[in-house]
Amino acid sequence: MADLDRVRRWADALIALHLDPSVWSFGFDRATTRAGLCSYSMHRITVSRHLASRYEDDEIHQVLLHEVAHAIAGPRAGHGPRWKAVASDLGYEGKRLHGGAIADELAPWVGSCPNGHTHFRYRKPTRALSCAKCSRRFDLRFQIEWDRRELPRTAASRA
Ligand SMILES: [Zn+2]
Ligand SMILES: [Zn+2]
Repeated sequence: MADLDRVRRWADALIALHLDPSVWSFGFDRATTRAGLCSYSMHRITVSRHLASRYEDDEIHQVLLHEVAHAIAGPRAGHGPRWKAVASDLGYEGKRLHGGAIADELAPWVGSCPNGHTHFRYRKPTRALSCAKCSRRFDLRFQIEWDRRELPRTAASRA
């Protein structure tokens, strides 16, 4: 698990290196369904305290690169080619992490199994799904319940 002080030091170093530290700042937030956030209005990059304490160092470092790339590329870039180019320059590998916490930051459907594992889908699942972490085979005891979450229309600025 990543040490929060160390995460903060990396974040501050990345901001000092790639952004204007008199403008941009870093902090932890309390999100549970996504790892990082780049707020263009606040000029602030935040990382989920909850996830940071569970992720490995390498993973949380990747989360930071992902968000710093958003800050550099600007809100209109979304996850498009410009953002991708900036991100890969920074060393972002674009791998799916831990159940795809980054890739799934914009997925509107969030599900949870009876044991609390979180799942994401871009479309509402049309059939019953059971949690693959709890059981390799379909098992009604581990059926996932789905909720639709509200994502702001200015999704680019939230991812
Ligand atoms: Zn489960
Ligand atoms: Zn993003």
